Amino acid sequence: MNQFYNPLFLGKILKRYLIDVDRLDRISGESLRRYQDKQLRRLVRFADTVPLYHEKYKQAGVHISDIAGIDDLQKLPCITKDDFKRHYPNGIVSSKIKKSSLIEVSTSGTTGKVLPIYVDMLDIVMGLFAYIRTLHEYDMSVWKDRITIIGDFAPHTAESGYVTRGLQPRFNISGIFRNIQWLNTNDDPKKIVSAINEFQPAFIGGYVGMLGHLALQKESGFGDNISPRYIAATGSVLDPYLKLFIEKTFHAKVFEVYGATESGLIGFQCKKGSYHLMSDLVYAEFLRKGQPVASGEAGEMVITKFHSHGTPIIRYSAINDIVAPLDGHCSCGKTGALIKKVYGRNDLALYLPGGNVLLPSSFSEIYSKILYQLKTNKVKNTKIIQHDLTTLEIQVVIDEALRPIGPSVEEIFQFIKKGFEEKTGSAVTVTVKEVDSVDTSQGPRIVSMIDKKNYTIARYI
Ligand SMILES: [Zn+2]
Repeated sequence: MNQFYNPLFLGKILKRYLIDVDRLDRISGESLRRYQDKQLRRLVRFADTVPLYHEKYKQAGVHISDIAGIDDLQKLPCITKDDFKRHYPNGIVSSKIKKSSLIEVSTSGTTGKVLPIYVDMLDIVMGLFAYIRTLHEYDMSVWKDRITIIGDFAPHTAESGYVTRGLQPRFNISGIFRNIQWLNTNDDPKKIVSAINEFQPAFIGGYVGMLGHLALQKESGFGDNISPRYIAATGSVLDPYLKLFIEKTFHAKVFEVYGATESGLIGFQCKKGSYHLMSDLVYAEFLRKGQPVASGEAGEMVITKFHSHGTPIIRYSAINDIVAPLDGHCSCGKTGALIKKVYGRNDLALYLPGGNVLLPSSFSEIYSKILYQLKTNKVKNTKIIQHDLTTLEIQVVIDEALRPIGPSVEEIFQFIKKGFEEKTGSAVTVTVKEVDSVDTSQGPRIVSMIDKKNYTIARYI
């Protein structure tokens, strides 16, 4: 049976909508904690019906009755991508849930390692609510404002799972969400600009790279009618200068939204600029060598997602993001945890001499600068290969149609080389070369051959 025609399910969702969307604005720290404790107990009981978790907990000698709340979370073992892979497909879903009611999604193919997991309609609805929550923060509503969402609608992605395979077949989505325009970030930026220009949204949500391209298009005189009040950037680290460039070009405020396929939305920036976690939907830990880091220190994020009857996400350590938590409260009054900075993925890091680890936040700056300083989107693709501690090879694919326009290829290469050298120091040799294409199907865009087992991290850059 189609769950959305089931009045009980629909009622449950409506109730959740009314209760959940603005919860963080209403409740106290103590009642949030009680809520988290209750959610965790429920979640662990559910996970015990999932073979992967049942087995892991048995091996670790922990019983679900040992988990009374968040304080006991550390008793549970962390879950990795390999755990999911080993138990896929039947071992990562509950024996109590019909698999046909679930939707398979996988983490983005950009890293080369595709990981399938299952989500249910509750995941999808909560994901939508989390997004609506960020809109509420900026006094916007899906019912009265036009919203453009530029998602990754490649067939396997979470966005496709949520929208194309989840919402669309069950809802008359274009009827209910008349004000939402869904665009695909894999399309040509020119095509996207003209679609947005026609729709004239008050809000645009998209990936950092695509937003940069749009700003450049707008600056070159395309998209005169595009004047959103707010733009939400997601997917990777937003460099502050690129953010300024986008804000200036569109005369709009840009804020960041942070999420991952496995967890759904994790956090968002409020009007005051603080980065809030969706602490009623997820619980994040930030660890270094298994121990929590101090406020402001970079740590590996381990995530627990409260709502789902698909694949449970409990102490999942493989989003691989390095994030710094932040103690204290924001003056906006929202309850829940804060983070100071998202550094990016540590499996996409470069390992430099002296224990310095260069994270994506650092080299995204270099590529952002090509957009807002050199004013060109001639760099169509890139691959960064670290052969050893002191040798870095940067492969660049140039857009043939744009080759004769703007700064020369040589100028761009010098710019990239200098950008990396400033980060790596003089001990590292950086070569930049043009290639016809880069192979990202076999692995990530950033490849480090360094043996991480014998490498001691001193600090993250
Ligand atoms: Zn705030």
